[in-house]
Amino acid sequence: MTDTIFALSSGSPPAAIAVVRLSGPRAGACLSALAGSLPEPRRASYRTLRVSRETVLDRALVLWFPGPRTATGEDLAELHLHGGRAVIAAVESALCDLPGMRRAEPGEFTRRAFANGQIDLAEAEGLADLLSAETELQRRSAIAMASGAFSKQVEDWRDRVLTSSAAVEAVLDFGDEDDVSDLPPEFGQRIAALADELSAWLSRPRAEALREGYRVVLAGPPNAGKSTLFNALVEDEAAITAPLAGTTRDVLTRAVAIEGVPFLFADTAGLRDETTDVIEAIGIDRARAALDRADLVLWLGAEGDGPAGVWEIAAQVDRGDGADKAAPRHAVSALTGEGIDELRRDLVETARRAMPRPGDVALNTRQHGLLADAEISLRAGLAERDPLLVAERLRRVRVSFDGLVGRATTEDMLDTLFGRFCIGK
Ligand code: GDP
Repeated sequence: MTDTIFALSSGSPPAAIAVVRLSGPRAGACLSALAGSLPEPRRASYRTLRVSRETVLDRALVLWFPGPRTATGEDLAELHLHGGRAVIAAVESALCDLPGMRRAEPGEFTRRAFANGQIDLAEAEGLADLLSAETELQRRSAIAMASGAFSKQVEDWRDRVLTSSAAVEAVLDFGDEDDVSDLPPEFGQRIAALADELSAWLSRPRAEALREGYRVVLAGPPNAGKSTLFNALVEDEAAITAPLAGTTRDVLTRAVAIEGVPFLFADTAGLRDETTDVIEAIGIDRARAALDRADLVLWLGAEGDGPAGVWEIAAQVDRGDGADKAAPRHAVSALTGEGIDELRRDLVETARRAMPRPGDVALNTRQHGLLADAEISLRAGLAERDPLLVAERLRRVRVSFDGLVGRATTEDMLDTLFGRFCIGK
């Protein structure tokens, strides 16, 4: 028999209320042991929780959800306790003493929901993103994934492939010649249209862009004003500034959300070609590595032009610096604040274009890989002449789709995914 698990599902105590959840075959027996009897299903009931006639644990709101139509697909109970540490400790200890009960592992409630078919894998991944969402854009994308928008799309694709597979099977069963010319003329068009649809999805911005933020790297020669501008942008005194060349030796990063758009700003060591300082040289190497991973580089230099493809920033304009630049994208002064708002606005607009649109489902690396496999198999199927091989390609497309919603999963994969959740979720 499955264990019955319990965990504190609300935030860290002390708090006004603490929610302890129980899931599994003994959830009802445990609730009734503590609360005296089982309350009416799905109705909040105010009870005194006791371990014995004399020992009162707490007065709490309790809820009883008999399975299988529950969040986990099992019998589920909730205790809404007073959120003090000692109250929670006493209730947890009482639960541990009840037979068949144990503490839940991270993500175990959600894992049970998946195992019992309450949610599919794409929805579970969306849920993990929703719980870690820190900006508005992240939240809106995650909620779309968690509420099954992508799963529905995958089901639609899968149905269409099944229809095409059936057409191929018919040719294999009844066709005179083993040639795709026996397939209905619209067969190829349908497959090509589906492959194009997948391509369009694959070219969308990825979920990682949302999770990690849009990477903006400040670069340029020493003393260009990088650290000062970095501080102005992150609205914080996060970097050390000094009138000495080579002050910023490591790459300093700071994640901030501007107008709900996640950014990762990086301040780098000044890029000097020759330095005798070993630590500064390492800093310069790290700066180059950061530049390689940047979505956007802000190039600050008093004179001359930066590398191609970067935004030229004339910094320290209050001192007349950058006046010789051909056409800087922005002219700013971190000292007077001139141009900073315009730069920030431009950054937000640029980053937004590289991010999933609000409410759009964004694919993570795993999903992107499976969808790319599906597209390759579809296009390979289009190129085949032998219906047997076409059928095999279409079968592979279905395998990729099954992987997306978790019809085929491995324990390792599930451990990794559900390990991302906290205990109690
Ligand atoms: P970095 O080496 O490129 O990071 O440059 P810093 O940000 O450390 O700035 C070098 C020097 O220039 C410091 O003394 C700053 O106070 C000064 N500075 C930076 N930005 C401005 C600015 O916009 N105007 C003026 N007048 N001085 C600035």
